[in-house]
Amino acid sequence: MNLKTQVGIIGAGPAGLLLSRILHNHGIENIILENRNESYLRQRLRAGVMEQGTVETFMEAGVGEKLAKGKMVHEGIYIHAKGIQNRLDVKELSGGKEVTVYGQKNITNDMIDHAQKDEIQIVWEAKAQRLEHIDDDGESAIIHYSLHGKMYTLECDFIAGCDGFHGISRPSLPITQKNIYSYEFPYSWYGILAEAPPIAHEVIYAHHPDGFALQSMRGPELSRLYIQCPNGTDPGAYEDEWLWDELDKRLGVTNNRGNIISKGVAPMRSFVCDVMQHGKLFIAGDAAHIVPPTGAKGMNLAVADVKVLSKGLIHHYKDKDDDILNRYTEICLRRIWKVERFSWWVTTTFHVDENQDEFTTKMQEATISYMLDSQIGGQSFAENYVGLPILWNEKK
Ligand SMILES: Cc1cc2nc3c(=O)[nH]c(=O)nc-3n(C[C@H](O)[C@H](O)[C@H](O)COP(=O)(O)OP(=O)(O)OC[C@H]3O[C@@H](n4cnc5c(N)ncnc54)[C@H](O)[C@@H]3O)c2cc1C
Repeated sequence: MNLKTQVGIIGAGPAGLLLSRILHNHGIENIILENRNESYLRQRLRAGVMEQGTVETFMEAGVGEKLAKGKMVHEGIYIHAKGIQNRLDVKELSGGKEVTVYGQKNITNDMIDHAQKDEIQIVWEAKAQRLEHIDDDGESAIIHYSLHGKMYTLECDFIAGCDGFHGISRPSLPITQKNIYSYEFPYSWYGILAEAPPIAHEVIYAHHPDGFALQSMRGPELSRLYIQCPNGTDPGAYEDEWLWDELDKRLGVTNNRGNIISKGVAPMRSFVCDVMQHGKLFIAGDAAHIVPPTGAKGMNLAVADVKVLSKGLIHHYKDKDDDILNRYTEICLRRIWKVERFSWWVTTTFHVDENQDEFTTKMQEATISYMLDSQIGGQSFAENYVGLPILWNEKK
């Protein structure tokens, strides 16, 4: 079917669904094209830790009733290093802020439910193939998309490219290699989801000679656990018993063991495209940047981009004011680079490169002990962990 709307959104991940919801709340018509089918999207696990600002954004958008009831609030984190379990009181160090554990899968389902209730159009299995008229040429922008073997068009004023790292929006921007900043880490994460109550009610980050480990959760009865593994590790490589022993050793706890319902390997990458707009096309979320999962920032970054983009579009339609839209890339990048720095810093501090020398290990230990022993070291971690503010104006 050929369609027409004000904002054409590519991708029904957290970025696309949230943008759609906020625009709808302000009377701005939009349609989402999503490559996958609905049940795939509703099952997809991924992230789980939300910054305070992310939770507030979902609440303000009116999709947070289940989040308010089902969330697990964390006021601190545990850090296991040199065989000692330490706790950083993130709430105290950040002046009263906290983080929330609520699965990306859950908030995705909540947003799809709301969209369906309000009859916001999500076209499932619709793959955007080509973008036309994205320049300021006085024509409507067009998304050419395929659906069940046929080609159709979605005509719109603006295109929001919320189509993740492998989408078509970023490659449709006029960019060169000079606009891309990318780093591949020399290790990956081996993650499991287990039907077992998490041993600690807050996350545990472990620095261990045999490699990083993390205890997290997706609910009171579901543990999400990770260990560092070499790049290219096969998801079937580790036996359950070995994994539990390794997790206990590295985390310095005796985990509750339960049925492992999923195993997966995630590579670690940092990536930024420093052009996030051109004419009528704006990209947001993983389409523009990737962080290694160590700082738990992927979904939070996507939400922050959407906050800026939605405000820009609302000002455009309601006040005929394009100031925020014109500065979209600049406003987002100012925060993105700091979040990239934090994610890279936590990753390189806690992981062990197999070629690492003893001096580097000592530097990692000193970095961790500075975080734990110094008020300012702890505050710096906490400020980043609970989420940095969006700075709307240039610093004078
Ligand atoms: C395996 C994995 C595990 C992760 N774990 C964590 C974690 O533990 N903690 C954390 O903070 N972050 C994690 N992340 C990152 C986090 O999930 C992402 O940052 C977040 O999903 C970004 O949201 P998004 O909406 O920008 O992109 P996505 O969620 O990727 O959504 C993009 C959507 O666009 C659709 N799409 C793509 N191309 C097209 C097209 N041509 N036409 C139509 N639709 C298209 C895709 O199907 C997808 O649904 C993980 C990511 C992955 C891949």
